[in-house]
Amino acid sequence: MKKVDRANYVRIKSAAYEDSPQSIGHSATISAPHMHAHATENLLEYLKPGNKVLDVGSGSGYSCAVFHNLVTETGKVVGIEHIDQLVESSKENLRRDGLGGALESGAIKMIAGDGRQGSAQEGPYNAIHVGAAAPEMPTALISQLAKPGRLFVPVEKTGESGQSIWQVDKDESGDVHSKELFQVRYVPLTDKAAQMNEL
Ligand code: SAH
Repeated sequence: MKKVDRANYVRIKSAAYEDSPQSIGHSATISAPHMHAHATENLLEYLKPGNKVLDVGSGSGYSCAVFHNLVTETGKVVGIEHIDQLVESSKENLRRDGLGGALESGAIKMIAGDGRQGSAQEGPYNAIHVGAAAPEMPTALISQLAKPGRLFVPVEKTGESGQSIWQVDKDESGDVHSKELFQVRYVPLTDKAAQMNEL
């Protein structure tokens, strides 16, 4: 994270190093640094050089930059974001942060699309990070995990208010084990139309 300058990914530069989320427009936020740290730490053993990562709801591009620094130029980070303008601004952010070369080489690939479906053609992934809260456990993403692989995803609690992070591990033989970690508050993983109507 020290290699990634958050000032390149936020709108209000004077607040770049505050440990809080910030609006990036289009009803989206860049997560607080402590959440990016939790997610990266949780996924760390799956972020080895050469590994493949999917970042769902890639927003500002910040988490893609952090993952790229770990999987390096020999690995691949695919960011998927459903707001076209955010895909474009995230690429500008990454270039400003010195990662234009990684975009050119394909070591970082930012795509526009519905992240709930993941991106099967680029998978399977050693690590999948979801930066928005899913209404239920996203089975399409679990199917795109490598063996072994780990998914870090905020999920709405069924029948209750609130969300919590789930760690979903797929082992070498393809068996899946899920564990609830801690409570959080993320923007929803939703339809593009629903998100834009909130403006
Ligand atoms: N990790 C990002 C988080 C951005 S907030 C960052 O720190 O910058 C969550 C993002 O998820 C928003 O940019 C929002 O537009 C996106 N999102 C919500 N639903 C989505 C969907 N169905 N498919 C792809 N992206 C989605």
